Amino acid sequence: MTENRYQTADKNVELCVIGGGPAGLQAAIVAKELGANVVIIDDNPILGGQLIKQTHKFFGSKLHYCGVRGIDIATILSDRAKKLEIEVISDATVVGYYDNDTLGILRHDNLFSLKAERYIFAMGASENMLAFDNADLPGVYGAGAVQTMMNVYGVVPGKRALVVGSGNIGLIVPYQLLQAGVEVAAIVEIMHKFGGYYVHAAKIKRAGVPIYLKHTVIEAKGKDRVEAAVISEVGDDYTCLLGTEKTIECDMILIAIGLSPLCDLLYHAGCRIEYIPDLGGNVPYHDANMMTSKPNIFVCGDLACIEEASTAMLEGRIAGARAYESLKSKDKRAEVIASEAAKELQIIRTSPFEERIVYGKTQLKH
Ligand SMILES: Cc1cc2nc3c(=O)[nH]c(=O)nc-3n(C[C@H](O)[C@H](O)[C@H](O)COP(=O)(O)OP(=O)(O)OC[C@H]3O[C@@H](n4cnc5c(N)ncnc54)[C@H](O)[C@@H]3O)c2cc1C
Repeated sequence: MTENRYQTADKNVELCVIGGGPAGLQAAIVAKELGANVVIIDDNPILGGQLIKQTHKFFGSKLHYCGVRGIDIATILSDRAKKLEIEVISDATVVGYYDNDTLGILRHDNLFSLKAERYIFAMGASENMLAFDNADLPGVYGAGAVQTMMNVYGVVPGKRALVVGSGNIGLIVPYQLLQAGVEVAAIVEIMHKFGGYYVHAAKIKRAGVPIYLKHTVIEAKGKDRVEAAVISEVGDDYTCLLGTEKTIECDMILIAIGLSPLCDLLYHAGCRIEYIPDLGGNVPYHDANMMTSKPNIFVCGDLACIEEASTAMLEGRIAGARAYESLKSKDKRAEVIASEAAKELQIIRTSPFEERIVYGKTQLKH
């Protein structure tokens, strides 16, 4: 924690939610419906987090907006927040957590402070990067960044892409590139099978995009920007096999090799952070109520473990209800919301795709 230069905060609220993605929005909606005075802070101009760039229809159950496009889920949640008159400070980045439990917030050129009795951190995740020769050439992007450029800002970032990684992001973003008229030269995947859902891989294969399994990228070629990528096959120990290199012409290399929870502010706040690979790396310790090692701070969504929107929303509901109870007192309505969300989470996490999450959550030390 850093010494606070503000003796009194510029703004005081009961509950502050940092991050207006599906997790933070659900947390704020629940807490506000129960009766708390809530403010949401988000660094984007519009609410919805990752959802605002997801043009595909989501999976899951009807209860969690299955069959609804991500962007439409964002609208449903934002409209609800608006109807409840939840205060939103958008275009604002939380830059610090100071020693009297006050946030520093930067909005345009204005730095101000806010103090809340309870906080729910829901900042999501950042994209993992990969080191290879010339990885800093213009034209090497995070796949999520490309999705933002195309689907939020209407910018097509190049003409021909190579995608590295075949999880859901590595399979969905190239499909959206094809829809935008961009050629996709190939997807390379270091493992022996693709990582995302079969349905996304099938769509990509039907579109004629090759997926090179047991391959990785080793070099970006080009003078001022990417002009080609060199890929190589890897052996069983994941080292490159000499003589298997191929040069692929492209002007973009999209890295889609996973996400890491954005927990920097939680370090700053003095919360206990634990390294749990199955949850995505360094995550704030949290209990079943989504409370961290500090009783005034709760977490939810990708910040607590890299998973998906449906589970982020359920964790948000638990965090919102439990933060409300800790502000006020035990409350029957809050208990019902939190325990129903916990039951739904348990059902979703019976899927084989969720085994590592269930295991990871058991690794959080009490
Ligand atoms: C390509 C792609 C496809 C996906 N497809 C699916 C799918 O089909 N089904 C599904 O269920 N899930 C899907 N997901 C996953 C889903 O989008 C995420 O799990 C979900 O959005 C996580 O929600 P969140 O609220 O935790 O974080 P986010 O949605 O990331 O929201 C966090 C918000 O916090 C803001 N923020 C961060 N730091 C700060 C700060 N310091 N100050 C202020 N604001 C801050 C961010 O800008 C963002 O708006 C997909 C994700 C991607 C990238």
